[in-house]
Amino acid sequence: MNKVMVINSGSSSIKYKLYRTDTWRSVAAGTLTRIGEPEGEIKCRWQGEDGEDRNRAQTLPIPNHRVGLDRIVAGLRENGVLADASELAAIGHRVVHGGEHFSQATVVDDAAVAVIRGLIPLAPLHNPAALDGIEVARELFPDLPQVAVFDNAFHQTMPPEAYRYAIPEYLYRDHRVRRYGFHGTSHYFVAKRAAVLLGRPLAECNLITLHLGNGASATAVRAGRSVDTSMGMTPLEGLVMGTRCGDIDPAIHFYLCRNAGLDTDALDALFNRQSGLLGICGVNDMREIHRLAGEGDANAELAIGIFCHRLRKYLGAYYAELGRVDAVVFTGGIGENDSEVRRRTCTGLEALGIHLDPGANAARGGGERAISTAASPVQVLVIPTNEELEIAQQAFAAVTGETN
Ligand code: AMP
Repeated sequence: MNKVMVINSGSSSIKYKLYRTDTWRSVAAGTLTRIGEPEGEIKCRWQGEDGEDRNRAQTLPIPNHRVGLDRIVAGLRENGVLADASELAAIGHRVVHGGEHFSQATVVDDAAVAVIRGLIPLAPLHNPAALDGIEVARELFPDLPQVAVFDNAFHQTMPPEAYRYAIPEYLYRDHRVRRYGFHGTSHYFVAKRAAVLLGRPLAECNLITLHLGNGASATAVRAGRSVDTSMGMTPLEGLVMGTRCGDIDPAIHFYLCRNAGLDTDALDALFNRQSGLLGICGVNDMREIHRLAGEGDANAELAIGIFCHRLRKYLGAYYAELGRVDAVVFTGGIGENDSEVRRRTCTGLEALGIHLDPGANAARGGGERAISTAASPVQVLVIPTNEELEIAQQAFAAVTGETN
């Protein structure tokens, strides 16, 4: 029982990662895609007994998640990474929405399954897929604890001032309309790492964590706890994202219904999948947007401008909310790699005690690092996120009570 598997189950895909619990190193990982289609794809990489990295790709039918999970375990056995499921202490499942019910990782029983099922209206795309993964794993490995790790759990500490909307109370009471926040596993992971870099307990740290990937969100962390976050009832609220618009005037919805003939489904697709960076300049990959901007594409330049402008607004708002900020933390594909976005976001904020070191910011190379000047009252940190590791460790802690 010295390993933990992490599963991220989508509607037609399963991503997995296997960790050793003594070193917390990942020993195997893979993806199954096109589940339910005539040809499925399995890709996996693992560490051979000689310590060398190996990988394999196969094309074969994966009719459903049950067969998929079975194939994952069989593949791990064939590759000599996992003798059998009894080596696992737990399987940790990423679940997007835990509503108000779960503020921490939870060992799944029938009651928890029923609650997650009841939350499907709040996360109609994500929770059914996660439930599929959990139920299949429970069937295949009845003796193995299945642990649900919720993407919004970290934000359950938000006060009502932050999580309630200024709309009639019955909408909260009867329809659960409130802000929940997402990316919680990532915000929590980088907050913990920031505390280590700052050299003090997380409970003494005030942070603004910026998860900037294809999805993006900002979180205000006071004394180690989330007190506000930019995503709301759904991941659509807040920052500009790859294909999501983030904050817009809600009246645009009914304006477009009345004047552009768009119905609910069309609006959903418009704001979730055709907006954001993609909507502004036709591309959602930030690297490509920089390339186009460098060639003089005005829309690409505007996309970067709107992205950073929104980010600065949230940075300022959360600074005001927290009063004292120890560090601003950048993470996610853009946050970790895009020195230009970091520069534009932090420039001119010296009055707030944010002094970026241009050289450190522009320096190439991954890993955790400070990119503020040594004298900057607010540190600016780049911390690669690792949601799978966080899920693995939370799952392990939920079944053993041991934390790392
Ligand atoms: P994620 O969802 O965290 O994988 O992040 C995806 C986003 O990160 C995409 O917009 C990528 O273009 C962006 N990204 C990844 N690497 C870089 C880079 N070196 N510079 C700028 N953006 C990057």
